[in-house]
Amino acid sequence: MSIVTLSLPNVNLKTEIRPKVCPYCSGETFQRWGRVSKPVKDNRYRSVLVYRYRCCHCHRTFRHYPSGVDRADQTLRLRKLSTLLWVLGMSLRGTCTALSVFGVQLSHMSLWRNLQEQADDLEKQRHWKPVRVLGIDGLYPLGKGRQQPVLIAVDLSTGQPVAMGHVNEYDLWAVHRFLEPLVKRLGVSVIVSDDLITFHRVTEKLGVEHQVCQFHVRRWVGRTLYQLRETVPKEWWWVLDETKSLLTELPPEGSRRLFELWKQIPERHGAHRKSRSALTQLRELLIRLSEYWSSYRVFDWQKDVPWTNNATEQAIGRMKMRSRTVRGYKSWCGMWAAGMLSCAGVSW
Ligand SMILES: [Zn+2]
Repeated sequence: MSIVTLSLPNVNLKTEIRPKVCPYCSGETFQRWGRVSKPVKDNRYRSVLVYRYRCCHCHRTFRHYPSGVDRADQTLRLRKLSTLLWVLGMSLRGTCTALSVFGVQLSHMSLWRNLQEQADDLEKQRHWKPVRVLGIDGLYPLGKGRQQPVLIAVDLSTGQPVAMGHVNEYDLWAVHRFLEPLVKRLGVSVIVSDDLITFHRVTEKLGVEHQVCQFHVRRWVGRTLYQLRETVPKEWWWVLDETKSLLTELPPEGSRRLFELWKQIPERHGAHRKSRSALTQLRELLIRLSEYWSSYRVFDWQKDVPWTNNATEQAIGRMKMRSRTVRGYKSWCGMWAAGMLSCAGVSW
């Protein structure tokens, strides 16, 4: 994320430009109907001048605000500026202190509302953007007592979180309920995830491509192979070696080769019980890798598909880090606002 320029909304002290349409009716002619000085919270101004107008059509009066000002007591600029300071890494307290340099007294609660508002704005803009490659990952939020797992979906072309739900990643139906509307609404064609059976099943059911994070595959398969070397009889060690190199090279024909290896290992083995169960384990490993082989190498033929789920993990890491500074508020909303804002960076 690189910051090139930062621009904040302009705030005018007053406006001579007359309103174009009446907020109540479609009337277009007005009489000026007095003026008021509106106190504002802003990094430069303490108050702005607001004219009142009376609609010649419906005879109602309304306030016509200069740019950067609305009904709220903070200007748009201050709302953005305070969010920006927080996005750049300050805590809630730190942001309020920094704003006091400009003579602005902002409560934590007001700042918190600004963060929510900006996050909501981003979310509204986002809804219309299709997502081709979606990363998903489970998360177990900090906090005592409430260890409800969360599933987070990230647009991998931008690193922006697009959805979050209280979903246990091991629960097939819950995962399906979470992903189905997302896939439909966003037009997702590839999902990147860990090597969990639930994700394999759901992506298959939804008819989308599935790329499994290679870090995870290599980690768990590597660990399994390492343990099997202790128990599998020596004459089968070459299978362990070949499995390992297949996984490193990911050739297109890997699935067939793993299946052949699986067939070569006898189902029943005369040796000790220990080696028998080790060979059963090896067979299970081979058949599983063979079955899901295509999901290990989608990145090989689809150029915008990453071969790991790192971008999703990074997005979640940012959410976790930022939501820690809003502890004490509802952690759910905090996580979400943190995610929306910190991943969007300062592109607004
Ligand atoms: Zn009117």
